[in-house]
Amino acid sequence: MKVFITRKIPGPAQEMLKAAGFEVVVNSQDRVLSKDQLKKAVAGFDAVLSLLSDHIDGEVMDAVGPQLKIIANYAVGFDNIDITAAKERNIFVTNTPGVLTEAVAEHTFALLMAAARRIVESDRFTKEGKYKQWEPFGFLGPQISGKTIGIIGLGRIGSQVGQIAFGGFRMKILYYDVKRNSEFEMENQAKLSPIDQILPQADFVTLHVPLLPETRHLINESRLKMMKKTAILVNTSRGPVVDENALVDALKNGTIAAAALDVYENEPNLADGLISLPNVILTPHIASATREAREAMSKTAAENIIAALTGTRPSSLVY
Ligand code: NAD
Repeated sequence: MKVFITRKIPGPAQEMLKAAGFEVVVNSQDRVLSKDQLKKAVAGFDAVLSLLSDHIDGEVMDAVGPQLKIIANYAVGFDNIDITAAKERNIFVTNTPGVLTEAVAEHTFALLMAAARRIVESDRFTKEGKYKQWEPFGFLGPQISGKTIGIIGLGRIGSQVGQIAFGGFRMKILYYDVKRNSEFEMENQAKLSPIDQILPQADFVTLHVPLLPETRHLINESRLKMMKKTAILVNTSRGPVVDENALVDALKNGTIAAAALDVYENEPNLADGLISLPNVILTPHIASATREAREAMSKTAAENIIAALTGTRPSSLVY
């Protein structure tokens, strides 16, 4: 049995797969393969370990061949894979849930705090030699403790963010999800509310929904207008959950105070005008980038492949 890994990844996946007796081929170019390159590279393999930057549709699955048993995504989001096409072809699709929850929640809070306390702007100011005297009005921002946070999508990551918000900062939590989580509500004094009721009340809004047709542009021009002028938006979910052009306008016009983003609508491209805004912090999709998370993701992906190729059900099937 043969496994193709679309980019070199950290962690034990390669050794685990080899130890299980599989032939392992890793994309030798250290960059994302184009669709045509991917179609050629994957032909004849039994399993593909893919990254969120690989767009895997039915055409790519057919290029692998009818022996393909599993696409193991090295991510928790799987919007880069055509799930309907995989189901039609009886191909397992797996992700790496849970093992990156803490890492992503920590990055979310790092972004939230950096935006509120203007860490990036003031770092640049200091390094540029502009710190000449202590300024009573310099870099004023909102306090975080005791404020209201709106958590949109209270799954694994959203609820971990909520625990940091409540446990660390005594924040008031309003959340929106298709499912209620009564235990979380009790433990964190949180309240489930419709999104349009949360936005006008929240000082911070953080997005943790998967990218689905229903969540595409969930934050659009009219919802940005519902938010407080002083609000800060954080997005570590998926770029298309936010209408990025509408966000650029909202940040320019002062509709909201600031944003901190890890993900973009057309990654790695950014909406026109985004990078020149002073009130936005941008990171290059690194929310899961702790050594611990990336290694654990590697292990989970390999375990899923080993299960699928040895005739067992992988543990993190996405459907
Ligand atoms: P999860 O499945 O545990 O949580 C998602 C939550 O969203 C669930 O509670 C679900 O009920 C809710 N939801 C689904 N559809 C909804 C809708 N239409 N409206 C409101 N709520 C809805 O997933 P998770 O592990 O918490 O991850 C969340 C997302 O974070 C992933 O799908 C992924 O896209 C993103 N992510 C990003 C990074 C990064 O590096 N930036 C890393 C990991 C995950």
